[in-house]
Parts: sequence; C-alpha cells; structure tokens
Amino acid sequence: MDLIRNCFPPNIIQANLQQYQTSIIYPGEEFNNITGEDPDDKNTWKVTSNWTNSTNILGLVVFSIVTGIAISLSEEEGIPLLRFVESVSVVMMKVTTWIIHLAPIGVLFLIASQILEMDNIAEEFGKLGWYFGTVMLGLCIHAFITLPLIYIICTRSLPFRFLANMANVYVTAFGTASSSATLPVTMNALEDKNGVDPRISRFVLPIGATINMDGTALYEAVAAIFIAQMNGIFPSIGQIIAISITATCASIGAAGIPQAGLVTMVMVLDTVGLPSESISIILSLDWLLDRFRTAINVLGDTIGAGIVAHLSKKELEEMTLKELKIEEEKALEEENDKL
Ligand code: ASP
Repeated sequence: MDLIRNCFPPNIIQANLQQYQTSIIYPGEEFNNITGEDPDDKNTWKVTSNWTNSTNILGLVVFSIVTGIAISLSEEEGIPLLRFVESVSVVMMKVTTWIIHLAPIGVLFLIASQILEMDNIAEEFGKLGWYFGTVMLGLCIHAFITLPLIYIICTRSLPFRFLANMANVYVTAFGTASSSATLPVTMNALEDKNGVDPRISRFVLPIGATINMDGTALYEAVAAIFIAQMNGIFPSIGQIIAISITATCASIGAAGIPQAGLVTMVMVLDTVGLPSESISIILSLDWLLDRFRTAINVLGDTIGAGIVAHLSKKELEEMTLKELKIEEEKALEEENDKL
C-alpha cells in the first residue's frame, strides 16, 4: 500500500528527500502514551504514518510522466520547459561521467574501512560460512544462469557484450551498495555503451531500481530459512515456498539504499513467525552481502531494460518516424506561411 501511496506525493520537493511509511504502534507503554487508551488492552493495534529520509523515486517517476504528457500536449509553449529538462539531463550526465572515473578509488576505501572495522574477519566467516556460501551460490546461479538465459530467450542474442559494457555499473553498485545511487551510472552506460533508447532506459531503470530487487529477495529467503534453522525449526517445502513469496514481497518494499533489505527482513521474520531479534545473527556479514546483492539487483534492472528495448524496437522506430513527419509538416507549414 505504501508503494501505491508513494506514487502520488503531496509535495514534489519533499519527494526528493522523503518517503511515506506506515508503521504499527505495538500494544504497550508507547501505545498507551500516544493513544491514551486502556493500558491493559493488548489486542488493539494502532497504525500511524511517518516520513523516512529516502528519495521517493516512484513519486518522481509518476510526476515526470504526468509532466511529460502535459509538455507534449502544450505544443509550442511546452518547448522551453522541454529544452530546460533536456539540458539539465545532459549536464548531470557529464557530472556522472566524472564521478564514474573516481569510482574505483572510492570503492577501495569504502571496503577497506569496513574490513578494518571488523574485529576478526576469519571468525565471522567461520560462524556464518554456510549461510554466506548459500547466498553467494544463489546469487551466482541467478547472475550467470537465470538472468542471461532470460536475455537469450527474449532477445535471441548472446548477452556477453551487453554485460561487458556494463561492468562499470556493477562495480559501482558493489561499491555504493545502493541501486538508487548507481542509477545515473546505469542510465549512462546503458544509453552510451549499449545504445538503449533513453525513452526506455529513463522509464524502466528508475522503476527497476525501486521495486525490482532479485538479489534482495533471494538473500531474504535464505536468511529467513537460516534463522529458522538456528532456532531449531526446519521448514517444510510448503513453508519454504511461503517464506520465498514473503521475501519477494518484502524486497519490493525495500528502498534502493544500503542495507535496506535488513529492515524489510524483520517483516519477513514477523510474517513467518520467527523472532525478529534473531536478525542479529546475520548482522556482522551483512555489509558484504549487501554489496553483492545490490550488484545483482542492478544486473536484473539492466537485463530488464535491455529486453524491453529489444521488444520495443519496432514501436520506437514508428514513434521516431511519426515525430519526424510531424516536424517536417510543421517546417513546411512555416515555409508556406512565410511565402
Ligand atoms: N542495498 C540494496 C539496494 O540498494 C537493498 C538491500 O538489499 O539492502 O539495492
């Protein structure tokens, strides 16, 4: 529901900085303080809302679509605004290109600082080795088999060149651990190196960075099963399927920022009846897994955009032809008027 509410932000400036989030006030002291209701009533739950600090990309996308439609319907008078937006986009892409060149150094320091903060890295891997290995195996199967296969089937071409052109994007996703922060780099590479039409990339990618999180869904399912096993519960196949579906829904709700998946993980644990405190078991290695799953999230977005671009080739050509025709007709009309 929050995803849908966030599509219609009440204030577009605020949407750049904050998202709407519903939260539950559990029965107890805080509940009674806020609501002033019977302290012994343990059955009534109250729902409140708050604004969290994170860009509301869906709201911005919906606003942009509405504004774009309005600009195209405004004809002549809408053109200055169109030129302004195009110019901002070109300038920002220039800045992004400079940042991309600094990315390797940034990634080096980001990771070095995380490793230095750990007391004993070998001990952490020893404790969580199987969990870490399982998540990594799942991510590798998804990255090297599932996604390329979908690309091959849909586009009838091999994805090697497409993926190699995007190497920089995956490194940036790994370095920043944020799909949203990687978004400008992803757009840039997809358009410049893979020749994807901006009409596709600029529509598909922001939505993908917000709701398409393959890596996070996979990680949340494995983490929930791992936590269940650590609590002495061995889920049946039916329960594993239920956990996977819940994890996929939770991943849609996760923001494209570092370790957002850890927050929605609590939701998965609550839903499948596991103690949410157990999340502390997996905390120590999450910073590293977060980087890998973010890279897979972004990989999923790019493959999705590549497939949509391939499937929409005909429509795009037709649209371009129509636009050219309209421009030609206009030019002719202007000449006739002059004559
Ligand atoms: N960091 C991830 C992303 O931005 C989200 C998560 O799984 O924590 O895509």
